Amino acid sequence: MVNHYTASKRLRHDDAYTPEGKAGARPDYAVTVYTQILKKLFPEIPVVIGGVEASLRRLTHYDWWQDRLLPSVLVSSGADWLCYGMGERPMLELTRAIEKGWNRRQMEQIPQLAFLRTGKPAPGALTLHSFEECQKSKRAFAENFHEIETHANMLHPATIVEPVGEGYVQVNPPYPPATQEEMDACWDLPFTKLPHPRYKGKRIPAYDMIKYSIITHRGCFGGCNFCTIAAHQGKFIQSRSEASILKEVKQLTGLPGFAGNISDLGAPTANMYGMVGKDPSLCAKCRRKSCLWPAPCPNMNRSHARLMELYKKVDAVKGIRHSYIGSGIRYDLFLSEDGYVDNTSRPYLKTLVLDHTSGRLKVAPEHTEDNVLYYMAKPSFKLFVKLRAEFDKITREAGRRTGIVPYFISSHPGCTLKDMQNLARNPALKGLYMDQVQDFTPTPMTTSSVMFYSGLDPRTLKPVFSEHDLEKKKKQKSLFFSK
Ligand code: SF4
Repeated sequence: MVNHYTASKRLRHDDAYTPEGKAGARPDYAVTVYTQILKKLFPEIPVVIGGVEASLRRLTHYDWWQDRLLPSVLVSSGADWLCYGMGERPMLELTRAIEKGWNRRQMEQIPQLAFLRTGKPAPGALTLHSFEECQKSKRAFAENFHEIETHANMLHPATIVEPVGEGYVQVNPPYPPATQEEMDACWDLPFTKLPHPRYKGKRIPAYDMIKYSIITHRGCFGGCNFCTIAAHQGKFIQSRSEASILKEVKQLTGLPGFAGNISDLGAPTANMYGMVGKDPSLCAKCRRKSCLWPAPCPNMNRSHARLMELYKKVDAVKGIRHSYIGSGIRYDLFLSEDGYVDNTSRPYLKTLVLDHTSGRLKVAPEHTEDNVLYYMAKPSFKLFVKLRAEFDKITREAGRRTGIVPYFISSHPGCTLKDMQNLARNPALKGLYMDQVQDFTPTPMTTSSVMFYSGLDPRTLKPVFSEHDLEKKKKQKSLFFSK
């Protein structure tokens, strides 16, 4: 839906995921539409749904495009199983279970699957308010979301049950975070890094962006309230080994058209590679959504040593001219308001700016006003000011003429017109190249979209303002450009 419509619900004219960028190749609510067609054609064949859309719609959720709550996509689609998150392990297990002829009850034990049932749910499960209760009470919906999100960020979450109609949706806890060996085994598969052969000779815009990129890890522990990554990939970082990444880098050098430049050596947050808690037993009991907000957890090892070592090794591969970091970074991983976090912090920022940035360095303070940043769960804007000063120092010393580009969001819950006026007038942004502002889109299963719909902050159940009027949303965005 995000792919089809802009934040102001206007139909997009192009689609980066289809050949030649043509719009209209897929229906709205594709998971539901395709599943219903399959069920009509082959009613006796079980259908398993997965991917980002199914994952984010696995329980009652707010749908911005219809401006109402929808039940789990299992209800609307008629699918038999829903596999959420990164699906390699549950899909393998489900396939084996089918091969072995397991019965339905046995298959219901497989982690990371969700399904719709009637009758009594499994004992010991965490039972949420029903879909119907959420329809009646925004508070019930906000309470549900708080439970879902807390468990989505725990290492040992509960089985979740949400009643709907005459039955209930059960969401089994996920597999534990993938080990390095499991991550490597996945990337050991013989991927061609090419689009499907049926698209031969056709240009797919999204493919152009990723064809010379490398994924180093999965997950993100930043916990931004508007983001869906943790709901899909989890909070805990799952990294590939250096050997696995280097093997892929070498393969890249043999790809047709590769000129030696890796467009992105990254992940959801590029500089979280290899980062884990110092004491795993604390992480095992942790219920925090973010390891960085409201303040960085002292148990998180924020050293960038392993990442810089990786950059060096990648750059040493024959045939590599540059490895750029196109993914976002979290600067609160190496910078605090008092300065650099440890002895790897400045060397990391220096190499990032001078060796691994193509054009300007793009970063995402998201807003200047701390009262809005609170609702986004982002660090204070003072940190961006500090980053800019350090960036300027590094580029000046190196005699480089390059800039830093900040990204912002308008109309996020908690953001008023006045806040956008303050942003536009902020003196710390003077002289910067500014063209990156995004109007907030409430996607399913984020804290921010729950705030938007319910008018409550699910973390505290206190009221929060959200701009709903499309014209006023437009006005907020336009203020950014009227500086
Ligand atoms: S204990 Fe700290 S490092 Fe570990 S998961 Fe919790 S917040 Fe993150």
